[in-house]
Amino acid sequence: MKKISILAAIVFLVLYIIPTLSLQYFEKKYPSKKTEVEIAESNDSIISDDNSERRNVQVYDVNNNKVITIELEEYIMGVVAGEMPAEFEIEALKAQAVTARTYLLYKLKKNTTNPEQHKEAPICTGIHCQVYYSKDELIKKYSQEWYDKYWDKIANAVTSTKGQILTFEDKIIEPLFHSTSGGRTENSEDVFTAFAPYLRSVDSPYEANSPKLTATVAMPIAEFVEKLKGALGITDLTVQNLKDKISLLEVSEGGKVKTLQVGDKVLTGREFRSLYNLNSTNFKFVQNNNTIEIVTTGYGHGVGMSQYGANGMAIEGYNYQDILKHYYTGVKLMTYK
Ligand SMILES: [Zn+2]
Repeated sequence: MKKISILAAIVFLVLYIIPTLSLQYFEKKYPSKKTEVEIAESNDSIISDDNSERRNVQVYDVNNNKVITIELEEYIMGVVAGEMPAEFEIEALKAQAVTARTYLLYKLKKNTTNPEQHKEAPICTGIHCQVYYSKDELIKKYSQEWYDKYWDKIANAVTSTKGQILTFEDKIIEPLFHSTSGGRTENSEDVFTAFAPYLRSVDSPYEANSPKLTATVAMPIAEFVEKLKGALGITDLTVQNLKDKISLLEVSEGGKVKTLQVGDKVLTGREFRSLYNLNSTNFKFVQNNNTIEIVTTGYGHGVGMSQYGANGMAIEGYNYQDILKHYYTGVKLMTYK
């Protein structure tokens, strides 16, 4: 009798308590009719009717400095509208909807015990997390005509992927994305410090439609030198010796500058990008008489999904699942219920 009850306790612990603990916060935020959160493969997923209940999410509104409560899928619509041009192909918008939902759940889980920038709620409406616009804000930002033209399309991208998120080895991923990679995305550890197995450098071949594919920042060489001297705290850099003093040290797999040598100092590509307000760290210099041109390729940090690359894939006939699996290595698309 005693043995049976010990066995029962172990079975209870393994089958119920342990999985419940790991999903505790998730469950707390998303109470379901079922006793635990189920994550099912979405390839065969038709989201069941019992998933139709409203789930609210608390979001810190950066414009009004207060926490607002929004229905989860409606929040995702406002993020898709805020983060991707509505003119994009529907499959690209669906991919953005899945990343927006994944990021929300990632933040909700991550910030439970350690809120960083906004203690009031685990996610905010600003660029710090992911941009969200309410319907009123969208009409104000664009126009009523814009809203009438695009809202149904955005809503469709969200409802047709309802509940779908990206996971890697059963954990919700941090689905980083950017505007335009410039032809190849970056390994996460080459841009940020953390290695993520699903944020690998991959080709991004369909970005020709991106208005941010290349850009040029031009300035007098003297100004370029002064900025660099100020940033590095060096004095022995001049217009004349610049060519000898500056060189590339490391280039990432995605083609972006990781580090530069300037005199005896080392500058990261990100520091250089920020110093000259560049679109990306994929850059080269062209000297033209007294002017220097810094030509950049791509726009953004280059990690994860390229939005213009996603739209290019959609134009080529790929669906949102193809797009997500291309940009996020080894992920599974799941549906939470
Ligand atoms: Zn935030």
